[in-house]
Amino acid sequence: MKVLFLFIDGLGLRSAAKDNPVHSGICPVLCRLIDKYSVPIDACLDTPGLPQSATGQTTMFTGVNAAQYMGRHCEGFPGPSLRKIITENNLFMELSRKGLRCRFADAYAVDNVDDLHTRRFKSVTTVMALTQPDTIAVQDDLLANQAVSHDITRKILNEKGHDIPMVRPSQAAEHLVEVARSYDFTLFEFFQTDLAGHSRDYQHACLVLSLLDEFLDAVYELCRTTGVLLILTSDHGNIEEIGVRGHTRNPVPFITCGPDAEKLQTHMTSLADIMPGIARIMVPGYTRISSNQ
Ligand SMILES: [Zn+2]
Repeated sequence: MKVLFLFIDGLGLRSAAKDNPVHSGICPVLCRLIDKYSVPIDACLDTPGLPQSATGQTTMFTGVNAAQYMGRHCEGFPGPSLRKIITENNLFMELSRKGLRCRFADAYAVDNVDDLHTRRFKSVTTVMALTQPDTIAVQDDLLANQAVSHDITRKILNEKGHDIPMVRPSQAAEHLVEVARSYDFTLFEFFQTDLAGHSRDYQHACLVLSLLDEFLDAVYELCRTTGVLLILTSDHGNIEEIGVRGHTRNPVPFITCGPDAEKLQTHMTSLADIMPGIARIMVPGYTRISSNQ
């Protein structure tokens, strides 16, 4: 089975409202996927306060309730304690141990993966990908259309001075699904949604959602025709409530379509269920071998 996991940062579930751009008509594909193929899951992790990226993503990719472990929600990039949880066991490690090939399809603007090890700040996804060889895409992969820019169209890379041909969202989708067909498990992370939520700029949020929707439209169709299981989820809410500063405690969507989609949604109630749920459908006879809880 081939799995494509779209991690969309800062996308919560909320009914239509004046300050909810998700239901403004700007992203019909996303809304249809939410309506037809998603279950709501909890991102608050039995912890008071607003859910944050470091603990939410650690939980999502390790199955350990990192907010409970830390006693609070932790923002941004993971510190030493969270990194320890991630490097002990994570989804990439779990799948690689069974001979499955994983790929983080967001291309890093570096020539060599070694350049990433020395970075002081690393995202949860970077820390996870660095635990396994040959999972990380770099600039040359992007030039060969075997990776995707984190902003989909490569516009941000060009604005930063990288001379890389821009692509339409549908082309980026083709590149991504080709990667997904070459590996067993492919991860793509999109965080412009979270940045747009933090900007509290409704028009900007609509532009980001519109771009994402064009991309999703093609990704969904290509996954459907090639039999790739598509998963889409988030680490916490944000963009669905533009009028509010910071993240929200809204549930997040867990969307699955394709082979084993319904099976994967069974018992899916929070971010902590994602990693074991995916391992269970991809690894025959899977049982959890480590837990910090
Ligand atoms: Zn986040």
